[in-house]
Amino acid sequence: MLKKQYAVIGLGRFGSSVAAYLTGMGYEVLAVDDNEERVQDIVHQVTHAVSADSTDEEAMKALGIRNFDVVVVAIGQDIQASIMTTLIVKELGVPHIVVKAQNDMHGKVLSKIGADKVVFPERDMGLRVAHHLISPNILEHIELSGDFSIVEMKAPPAFVNKNLKQLDFRAKFGCNVLAVKRGEDMDIAPRADAPLLQGDVLVIVGKNERLMKLEQTYAEG
Ligand code: ATP
Repeated sequence: MLKKQYAVIGLGRFGSSVAAYLTGMGYEVLAVDDNEERVQDIVHQVTHAVSADSTDEEAMKALGIRNFDVVVVAIGQDIQASIMTTLIVKELGVPHIVVKAQNDMHGKVLSKIGADKVVFPERDMGLRVAHHLISPNILEHIELSGDFSIVEMKAPPAFVNKNLKQLDFRAKFGCNVLAVKRGEDMDIAPRADAPLLQGDVLVIVGKNERLMKLEQTYAEG
C-alpha cells in the first residue's frame, strides 16, 4: 500500500513540528510557507519545501495540492488566510484537511467550510498543564467525545494492595478500568480480584464528570 502524502501549510512552531515529525516517520511531506526564511529553515527536514502564498488558488493548483491525501493548515495569527486556504484546499478536493484554530469562533468557521478536523494546540496544551497541576496522578487525558474520556492515573496509595472489586470502581465512580500498566507490561484484561501494586498505572474510561470526581477524590494521593 502506498504511504499517505502530506502537505503542511504554515511553518510556525506547530506546522514545522508536524512536518518534521511526519517526515521522520518516513512519510512524504511538502512544506509550504509564504515566508522564504521559514522555508529555508525546514528545507533539510522535509521531502520538499516551497515558498508560496496559500491564499492564491493558482499557486496551490500549481503545487498539485489536490494530489495530497492530507493537508494540514497551520496558519495561526492570520485568520483570514487560514480560512481562505482551507476553502481553497477543500475546493481542490483534498480528502482530509486538518486545521489549527486560534479560537472557538475560528474553529466553528473552519468546520462549516469543510475542515475534517480542527485542532486547538495552545488551548489543549493549556488545559493539559492545568489538569496536571490539579491532579498530578493523572498522566494522560484523552478526550473521546464531549462527554467521555480516557485517563491514565497513577495508583494512589489508597489503591495499593487493593483489588478492583474492593475499590468498587464501577459503582463508586461509574468508570471502567480498561488496563493496568505495570512497568513495561500492560494487562489489557485486568482481573477484579488481582491486587494493585505501588507504581501501577490504571487506564480508565468514563464520563468526564465522573472521572473528575475520581481525580478530585485522589488528587492528593
Ligand atoms: P505557531 O504558534 O505555530 O508558531 P502561529 O500561530 O504564530 O504559529 P503564524 O506564525 O501566524 O502562526 O503562522 C504560521 C506560518 O504561516 C508563518 O510562518 C506564516 O508565514 C505562514 N503563513 C501565514 N499566511 C500565509 C499564507 N497566506 N501562505 C503561506 N503561509 C502563510
